Amino acid sequence: MSKTQVAKGSCLCGAVKFLAKTMNPDIIVCHCKMCRKWTGGLLMSVFCGTDVRFTGEENIKVFDSSQWAERGFCNNCGSGLFYRLKGNQEYHIPVSLFEHCKGVIFKEQLFIDKKPEFYSFSNDTLNMTEAEILAKYSSPTT
Ligand SMILES: [Zn+2]
Ligand SMILES: [Zn+2]
Repeated sequence: MSKTQVAKGSCLCGAVKFLAKTMNPDIIVCHCKMCRKWTGGLLMSVFCGTDVRFTGEENIKVFDSSQWAERGFCNNCGSGLFYRLKGNQEYHIPVSLFEHCKGVIFKEQLFIDKKPEFYSFSNDTLNMTEAEILAKYSSPTT
């Protein structure tokens, strides 16, 4: 795991702002169907642990997306704000919401076998298929 940093970000309209105290600069891309539906593209996020402080919290709407996770978005501009695990309340936050993306590294691609044919991310990353993810985690991660 790379050295974490303190990082600030916001949604598109600015109604929701946040401070992540331990943002890990390793970018994880998820090509799963849910992430692609949610974003309209794919999810490119960084792991932020549990210490994320929000302002404008009244503008956050949370969508219960599966048994194990929920997804937050701004109810004014629609920006996807986070993917949060229900069990331990850990956050994955889309990297482009941050003010600066200093030192971030494109590290990993999840559900690589679900990636559509029409784009290819040719960076040298750690790639995992659905079967590999299911084998690694006792419960699915989408
Ligand atoms: Zn907004
Ligand atoms: Zn996903």
